[in-house]
Formats: sequence, C-alpha cells, structure tokens
Amino acid sequence: MLEYKGIGSQKALLASFEQVHAQTEAPYRQLLERIRAELKVEKVEPWDLDYFFSTLTGDFEQKSFPQEQAWPRVQQVAASLGYDFGRLPVEMKIADITFGGGTYPILYGKEVKILMNKYTGLRFTDTLLHEAGHGLHYSFSNEPSFLLRAGYPEPFDEGLGQVMALMLYRSEVATRAFGLSAEQARLVQERYRLKNLLDLRETIADSVFEFEAYANPGQDLDALYNRICSRYIGVEMHGTRPWAFDPFYSTGPIYLQSYVLAEMVGWQVHHALDQKFGRAWDARTGAYLREKFFSRGGLLTLDQIMQEGTGEPLNPRYMIDSLKPPIP
Ligand SMILES: [Zn+2]
Repeated sequence: MLEYKGIGSQKALLASFEQVHAQTEAPYRQLLERIRAELKVEKVEPWDLDYFFSTLTGDFEQKSFPQEQAWPRVQQVAASLGYDFGRLPVEMKIADITFGGGTYPILYGKEVKILMNKYTGLRFTDTLLHEAGHGLHYSFSNEPSFLLRAGYPEPFDEGLGQVMALMLYRSEVATRAFGLSAEQARLVQERYRLKNLLDLRETIADSVFEFEAYANPGQDLDALYNRICSRYIGVEMHGTRPWAFDPFYSTGPIYLQSYVLAEMVGWQVHHALDQKFGRAWDARTGAYLREKFFSRGGLLTLDQIMQEGTGEPLNPRYMIDSLKPPIP
C-alpha cells in the first residue's frame, strides 16, 4: 500500500517519524509543562490538551476570519502568485459534511469541485486554503496521460494543500490579505506552531498504531494504542479505545502518514521558495511553483519532484525547524 501511494520504504518513513519525535521532544516537553502550569494540574491528561488549545484562541480570530470572506481572500492570496481562480475550472460549495473539506477532480484541468464543512473562523480559512492547493493541482496538472495525472504520490498532493495552507502563517500574507496586525499575525503563527507540535505527534501515533495493528491484528489493540500514545504524546490514555471510532482507519486505510509527509513537503517548498525569491512572493514565484509542483502528477517520484523543485529529496528538517520556539 505504501509503495502504491508513492511512499516506498516503510523503514525510511518510520525513521523520519523518529527524527521528528526525537528532535521536537524538547519543545514538546516545554508545551506539556506550560499546559500543566497554566491549567494548574498535577499531571496533564488527554482532555487537558484540547481544552488548553481552546483557551489559546484569540477573540480576534472569529472576527478577522469571517466565513463569507474566506473564499475571496483565498483567491486574493492565489492572485498574488499570479493564479486567477476566476478563470480556473474550480467551484467551491459549503455543505453539511462530516469532514473538514474535500477537493474532487471531476476531470483534470477541466472541472474541479471543492466541498467545505460549515466551519467558521481561522479553521475554515486554513482548510479552504488547503483545498485550494488541491484545486490548483488538479487544474494545472499537465502530465501527458490520464493515468499520470491521476497517479500522483499521495503525500505530494496533500503537500500542495499545505503549501497553500501555510501561506496563512506568513506575516506578510496574514497582514496584507487577511488584515491582521503584526502582533495578531505573530499570535496566529505561535498557536499554529504549538498546535502542530501536538497534532503531528498525534498523527504519527495514529499512523504507527495502524502499521503495527496490521502487522499483528491478533494482539491486544487497546494496549498497543495506549503504549504508542504514551510514547509519542506523553499522556496516559487510561485503557480507552478512541482508535475504535476513528473513521480514518476504515474510510482511508494507510492514509494518515501522508499528512505528516505533506507538512514536510509544505515547509520544504516554502523554505526553497524563500531562498530563491526572498520573502515577498509574486507571479514569478507562482510560475515556478506551477512548473515544478502544481503541474506534476505521477511521472516523477516524490523525492524526484522535491529534488527538482527544492534541490534536495524530501526531508523533515524544515518542518522540525518550524516547531522550535522562535528566536526572540
Ligand atoms: Zn488534502
């Protein structure tokens, strides 16, 4: 399955997970300590994590990211890269769905549909930017056959979603396209960093659990899940079985690892573009992004695409850097 999804060796994948785990351990421990101190608890429990992040959301976020302005603003961000959604075959609809959002290539280059959950605030805009990344990919994919347009490496496609979503956490985009003050932009970035420290570990834990469950389905899966969670997330799960109602394991088997790799793709592409174009991206940056990334499908492997577009194969270094506390 991993090979089919363009990931290749499970050993290399797990090694990159370990690298993330080891190299973000210090900032993650700092986060847990901060949660413990701010919530005045002796020991951080799984339910404290979500609660803590709910307290970090600034009042300005609901006001600064109204749902009805999200699509025009996302189009404005795309326009700053020279992409005109008004002329792309992409339609966006908000619907009552049970997941964040989805983008569907009805016909590559001809008809693309984005379906969005009725979220509000920053979460809606972040998700819509991600879906817009898929929309650009399915519109610009320029491989010579349907099979090559449809046969892209899955983490690469998700990575293009993150290339767009991460735009929101660039100060110049947050202030110009979304009207935040410099301080608000900094708060939004810092919360993304802290939440991502946790989210990536949770996704890695869920993904490792899935691999180990398939490797030996007869084992005690509750004990396995608890062991993996305490290793990666550092909290005690008290023998509960949240894995049993996680719909991902049935509707998208062996998919979760692609979200971790996608985040690596996103940060590595942003880093490479900053090196090449500086912080102020424009239509030239967009043209490069389109040529090296959005137009790619299944002709090259994930590492080949990253090598050609960023000068090195996919690696977690830039994502790990993004998780470290900013230098004041
Ligand atoms: Zn996606």
